[in-house]
Amino acid sequence: MMQPQNISNLVFSYGISEAELLNHPVLEALPVAIYTCDLDGYIRMYNRAAVELWGREPDGSDQWCGSWKIFSMDGSPLPLDECPMAKVLKGIPVEPYREIMIQRPDGSRRIAVPHPRAITNDAGKMIGAVNMLVDVTFRKNAEEDVARLAAIVQSSEDAIVSKTLQGIVTSWNPSAEKVFGYTAAEMIGQHISKLIPSERISEEAEILSKIQRGERIEHFDTQRITKSGKLIDVSLTISPVRNSNGIIIGASKIARLISAEKKLYKALQESEQRLNIAVEAAELGTWELNLITREPSYSDRYLQILGFEPGSKPDHSSILKKIHPEDMEIRNEAIKKALEDGTLDFEMRVCPSKEIVRWIRSKGKVFYDKNGTPQRILGTTLDITDQKAAFDILLQSEERFKDIANSAPVMIWMTGNEKYAGFHNTSWLNFTGIKQEHGNIDDWTDFVHPDDVEKYINVYKEAYVKQEAFYREYRLRRYDGQYRWISDHAVPRYDNTGSFIGFISACMDIDDEKRFNEKLQASELLFKTIANVSPVALWMTDVNGKNNFVNQTWIDWTGIPVDKQYDQGWLASVEEADREHLMEVCRKSLEKKEQFAVEFRLNRKDGKVRWMLSEGGPYYSIDGKFCGLAGSVADITERKEQEIQKNDFLAVASHELKTPITSIKAYTQLLAQTFQNGDNDFVKNALSKMENQVNKMTKLVSDFLKLSKIESGKFQLNPELFDLKDLVNEMAGDIQMVSAGHKILVEKSGSLFVNADRERISQVITNFLNNAVKYSPDNKDINVRMKNSNGFVTVMVEDKGIGIKPEEHQKIFERFYRANGNANISFSGFGIGLYISAEIIRKHGGDIGVNSEEGKGSVFYFTLPQAK
Ligand code: ADP
Repeated sequence: MMQPQNISNLVFSYGISEAELLNHPVLEALPVAIYTCDLDGYIRMYNRAAVELWGREPDGSDQWCGSWKIFSMDGSPLPLDECPMAKVLKGIPVEPYREIMIQRPDGSRRIAVPHPRAITNDAGKMIGAVNMLVDVTFRKNAEEDVARLAAIVQSSEDAIVSKTLQGIVTSWNPSAEKVFGYTAAEMIGQHISKLIPSERISEEAEILSKIQRGERIEHFDTQRITKSGKLIDVSLTISPVRNSNGIIIGASKIARLISAEKKLYKALQESEQRLNIAVEAAELGTWELNLITREPSYSDRYLQILGFEPGSKPDHSSILKKIHPEDMEIRNEAIKKALEDGTLDFEMRVCPSKEIVRWIRSKGKVFYDKNGTPQRILGTTLDITDQKAAFDILLQSEERFKDIANSAPVMIWMTGNEKYAGFHNTSWLNFTGIKQEHGNIDDWTDFVHPDDVEKYINVYKEAYVKQEAFYREYRLRRYDGQYRWISDHAVPRYDNTGSFIGFISACMDIDDEKRFNEKLQASELLFKTIANVSPVALWMTDVNGKNNFVNQTWIDWTGIPVDKQYDQGWLASVEEADREHLMEVCRKSLEKKEQFAVEFRLNRKDGKVRWMLSEGGPYYSIDGKFCGLAGSVADITERKEQEIQKNDFLAVASHELKTPITSIKAYTQLLAQTFQNGDNDFVKNALSKMENQVNKMTKLVSDFLKLSKIESGKFQLNPELFDLKDLVNEMAGDIQMVSAGHKILVEKSGSLFVNADRERISQVITNFLNNAVKYSPDNKDINVRMKNSNGFVTVMVEDKGIGIKPEEHQKIFERFYRANGNANISFSGFGIGLYISAEIIRKHGGDIGVNSEEGKGSVFYFTLPQAK
């Protein structure tokens, strides 16, 4: 048998015991790498998962980490003595969740998140450290793939269409609209054959059958018809679309317009070239205007831009004629401003000929004489038509990207000119449950957990300034209100001139994984915590049921030293009379491998005898091997004493009450028989009411005895359909009979049908009315009202009696609770009626409560669901 070890020894006395702790079957089988180091950093122990992660077995000389080589995530080598484990041992703070890259001797690399933690002895002194390495390689790769995909998709400029296996169009992007002339609204839900010329209709069947086989069709040159009936040449690439189970559910089609594609490409290339040349000023037109003589002069390039022959001398008015009429105003405003502040800068359209419109940008400077009078303006003009076009194309490609991003299964967000607002794809919107068509959210911090917002914003701000990729983890509110941990990897975006224009990010829900990690960390701490702070005793046995562990709490209670507890040593402190039963229960649990709970008395070292509840059951190693029994022992003396008191009380009360009630009942029946044939109707009537009430009392007593039943939840209802109005009136009549001093007034009401246990509800009404009578000795008016609203029927009983303090409004519905009330008068009672009433009403799905002011009176009410 393994030498039993106290858990504190296991953790704290650093030596053999540590090896035993880590030879623990649970740790060895754990799918997470764990290892420990001593104060000098030498690896003392490690589990199988650690060897797997490192790709090697430490040989005794390894310090800090068993890895062959490690790197920071930016790729720079990380010296082993600066690794997180080394930092912990040197007392340097470690950033949580910072990943490292591990290179194995065979060259393969893994990414892991280390969780190092110091091991301290009783005195709080560090005696080593334990590290847990969580392998996140798989997650990392997946995230990178998504980001890469998003980047590729972003730069695509093609018409993209998806359809079901039956050929029904399910998505249609703006480019598709451009190429084929149909809008998304016109095409979605339509059959794709709308685009296919009749002589090519057989192609579609061929395409679909290939897709169904999981094949991809690339660069298939064919013809399609546009909305206007024009035949166009297109090149198709079609791929199968699979659902998350890998089943093919449709096809996505990329259509490229063959001729337009070439044009577009050329325009883009030219615009890039022009931009370069413009930078070198070769494309800049220059001009000058003498403000005194109004005499202009223009460079050849300027004349060319405006559509004049180089070397010609157009006058000022023919230059003005070239300006696009709608932009004349812009030009005049710009010149007016230039004369005021000295600089000119504006964009406008010009028309070098009837068919051509060009965008130009003019910049200039005003020169003054020494008196400050403007003399002339010197300026440059650049043809920016292509730049503008390129910008439009960029805008379009952005739109197209959004379409594709919307079909991506990961959450994607993107910021543009607006630093804190931006596009969110459908997955993101679905996750947060926002109904928003364009995905533009103004302030998405609304969805971040309040505790995470500050860090969330700061990381973003810093990255924005540095224009750097960043990573965040935070809790995001899901559509159902639950906050989930999200990993958020963002990379900077650039426009085609290379300027930074915001970020694009792929987010993943890592909540389950995160919780798993947290659990692992918690379980790492568990050994320490339970041994030190547990208010209950803990124990474990081997497979033969022999004790091999008790915690400090048990040792403190019994006063028996740890080495005398093992095997059956612990039994010595159990009260002799209880030993056999206890052992029997344990034996049965061991044999049947099932849970048990047993009570026994313990002789404590301070001489007191205390009631204990031991609960336990079998425990298994990760690979499912039975290891023995484990469990806890809690001190239940107080509870036990209360229980005994309660049971005693109930027994006495039942005995005391049953006898007098039975004899009253017998006498009532006897009297009833005697007067049966007489002609005194009043007596007959009174006797039958009396018998009625006695029956109710009998019922109440038996209910009282059934209190314990309520507690254990074995409380049954017998519902039936009845009119609550009638029941209330009947009960009020009964109580009025026996409370002649009070005046019970029931407000008129229509029928109020409920499906409820009539008998029990009558108990509640009786209880309310009896209390109203009992607790209003001075003012005798009692009003009963009923109403029907929102699917519930309400009954209210109002008295003008002693009332109840606000702090007792809840408490009076508790078992045995009686309000202090008026000190001068004493009221009889058990404090049980309202408790039973509350149980009855809640069981019916209704509500019960009171509005009351001390000294003024109370309104007790209950509600019941209206019968359907
Ligand atoms: P009992 O009346 O037998 O004590 P109940 O459970 O019916 O038990 O009521 C609990 C306590 O609530 C009472 O002891 C009393 O202090 C208070 N209470 C109940 N009804 C009224 C009422 N109408 N006015 C003032 N106090 C009340």
